[in-house]
Amino acid sequence: MPAIPIYFQTIMPAVSLPSDAPSTTTLPFRKHIYPTPKLRLHLEDLSHEGSSVFLSNIKGNDDLEHQCQNVLNLLYNHDSIRPGTRSVTFVLRAYQGLAYTTGIDLDGDHKEIHINLDYFTKISGDVRHEILGVICHELVHCFQWAAGGTANGGLIEGIADYVRLNAGLAAKHWKQEADGSWDGGYQHTGYFLQHLEEKFGRGTVKNINAGLRHGKYDEKHLFESCCGGKDVEELWKEYGEELKKRKKEEEDAGTKPTTTEKGKTIPTDTPPKFEDSTK
Ligand SMILES: [Zn+2]
Repeated sequence: MPAIPIYFQTIMPAVSLPSDAPSTTTLPFRKHIYPTPKLRLHLEDLSHEGSSVFLSNIKGNDDLEHQCQNVLNLLYNHDSIRPGTRSVTFVLRAYQGLAYTTGIDLDGDHKEIHINLDYFTKISGDVRHEILGVICHELVHCFQWAAGGTANGGLIEGIADYVRLNAGLAAKHWKQEADGSWDGGYQHTGYFLQHLEEKFGRGTVKNINAGLRHGKYDEKHLFESCCGGKDVEELWKEYGEELKKRKKEEEDAGTKPTTTEKGKTIPTDTPPKFEDSTK
């Protein structure tokens, strides 16, 4: 029997729900093995304590590739057109901020993910889980579409945390809430996207990402075409009402409310917020 080509190998799905408690291992529903770009590590200061934290928690030959597969599987189908990202370099150095992703000046297909070494030394709790979460979030910026840099930054950040959530890497402080605007970004928007995925069917967020491939950002058309002809503001309102209803049901059932507490938003990026920005 001929060998099965690597692109058609399947791995047992393991669905990670947002309500799952974060764990130290990621739970991707990996269906397809994508070719991944060259992954490189630039460690600027080996004597920094953060270098040791990173190296003792992250397995270079496995974890980074694994996160690329998570991201690609959550953003694309095997036949989707993807950005031509050819390399991702992890640059670990001490600077002001947490993490950001950028393209190199000569060629935007070569990405750099900069993560602050000081940050690694300040993580409390499950260090490996948190580092993998940040890596996952930043890798989304290496592979997502962004309407040629015109997309709503809150949506771009929301997609990154939607992927992180579905990779089983939600941060422990994350709370689902519908305060403020839908495009507040990060997990605030990420949970909203998760809601749309559940409401309008599997692949909804992939379609939203695909809708950012061409042309200028057109919010009205994007959400109407992906979410049953509805306006994003209307969808956000419905989402808020649903969370309220769920909270009431939980209170009536005598369980502790978990969905509408005012959540803290801790940005994982410092400006520039996504790949189309420059340093
Ligand atoms: Zn980001």
